[in-house]
Amino acid sequence: MAVERTLSIIKPDATRRNLTGKINAKFEAAGLRVVAQKRLQMTCEQAEKFYAVHEARPFYGELCAYMSSEPVVVQVLEGENAIAKNREVMGATNPANAAPGTIRKEFALSVQENSVHGSDSAENAKIEIDFFFKPEEIVG
Ligand code: UDP
Ligand code: MG
Repeated sequence: MAVERTLSIIKPDATRRNLTGKINAKFEAAGLRVVAQKRLQMTCEQAEKFYAVHEARPFYGELCAYMSSEPVVVQVLEGENAIAKNREVMGATNPANAAPGTIRKEFALSVQENSVHGSDSAENAKIEIDFFFKPEEIVG
């Protein structure tokens, strides 16, 4: 298995409830390393660009409003098979379907306020990492 990098976002519902450390502990326990991290508040335009792939979905407007409503923590996670491993640690999009022990099962409030984002493919991981980080901001 290859060492990969993936883009993670700790979403507003989680930063608001002071869960950044608890969520990072889950990543670290799974062997994922936080190799870049910053807290920021996205503009509405930034959120729209980041989620452009969901433009046609009915929840797009609400999702972009939510993601820009309060601070988030954007991070690069590194490890063996990091993209799939992160998705596993996150759990299913809808917390009602998320497996026990996953971040979304333990912390998510709803299908929208589901505490974390994670890239879904190697191609998107690269695009999403470049969206938030300069190469010199990532130190593995
Ligand atoms: N989302 C939503 N309603 C839905 C499906 C998704 O509000 O019915 C939100 C949710 O915050 C989710 C994000 O849109 O995390 C992106 O959806 P995606 O299907 O890519 O899920 P993910 O990759 O985050 O599991
Ligand atoms: Mg997705």
